[in-house]
Amino acid sequence: MSKKTMKAVVYKHTGTVALEERPLPGLMDSRDAVIKVTLTTICSSDIHIKHGAVPRAIPGTILGHEFVGIVDQVGNDVKRFKPGDRVAVNVETFCGECFFCKRGYVNNCTDEHGGWALGCRIDGGQAEYVRVPFADNGITHIPDDVTDEDALFTGDILSTGYWGASLAEIKPADTVAVIGAGPTGLCTLMCAGLYGPARVIAIDISDERLELAKKQGLADIILNPLKQDVVQEVLRLTEGRGADAVLEAAGGKDTFQTAWKIARPNAVVCVVAMYEEAQVIPLPDMYGKNLVFKTGGVDASCCGEIMELIRAGRLNTSCLITHRTTLEHIMEAYDIFENKKDHVIKYAVNIE
Ligand SMILES: [Zn+2]
Ligand SMILES: [Zn+2]
Repeated sequence: MSKKTMKAVVYKHTGTVALEERPLPGLMDSRDAVIKVTLTTICSSDIHIKHGAVPRAIPGTILGHEFVGIVDQVGNDVKRFKPGDRVAVNVETFCGECFFCKRGYVNNCTDEHGGWALGCRIDGGQAEYVRVPFADNGITHIPDDVTDEDALFTGDILSTGYWGASLAEIKPADTVAVIGAGPTGLCTLMCAGLYGPARVIAIDISDERLELAKKQGLADIILNPLKQDVVQEVLRLTEGRGADAVLEAAGGKDTFQTAWKIARPNAVVCVVAMYEEAQVIPLPDMYGKNLVFKTGGVDASCCGEIMELIRAGRLNTSCLITHRTTLEHIMEAYDIFENKKDHVIKYAVNIE
């Protein structure tokens, strides 16, 4: 093998990411796999890292925690995968053996390479190759009849939507409100639908994203806070009660306040958004509403189930991919994605 370096997107320091040449990664532990990345994407969390809003992110790390590829090498203790396998990679790597992993809370894995490490604390998948720790836990086979594009969001935004919807305790006759119709919001809407609620309300400040949610059948009702009083409208739609379950996937300035205000008494308010600023819980104002708050980040431990639902056509994220490019041109994609130019929802970045 003559190739010694590869292209990779590196988080340099607050405000700067750059496409650089980096050494090829190798196995460091017997439970590692090295994946040849075939398709990757940019997540809003990458933008949060760039903004310095993710304290755990380490400068110098290769970004990327949402990607698919082909297994290139495996350590001796990797049992479920072999070179040549097509795989989707979880945002979280996890040991499977610690206190939290045993209870399914893989986001809180106490191993130094556990939890959200990829593309944050250890080198991620906006690169030609990536080392993935605990490969048996953190990667998922892609069936032959599922394309790379279909599988691309399995490990991160689909996992987040799937996890959020599972926390929200949605029942068949419920009215569910999802705040945010961006990439994570659309996945959350999609996954809320798996529970068969009577009505799904999507809330966003972009009419275009709302129209997409409606056109794709992910939302029954769409509300834009720039045009209407969302709290009043949700109350009106629910005979004054409020939504039975609220999922906040926007992370905007006022969206947390909207989330608890539109929830009916005793509802679950599930916060899957990542904020760049502290939020206030005004307890006197919500006294007597008896709300249950559940907060992120995702426990990405259901990727096998998600892959089955993709294969069965129950989860279909093709409407999210509005832009395609190659790793060579990824910095242009960063600009378009960060600044929400050109009606972008998600990029599929091909790696030759
Ligand atoms: Zn992400
Ligand atoms: Zn663990």
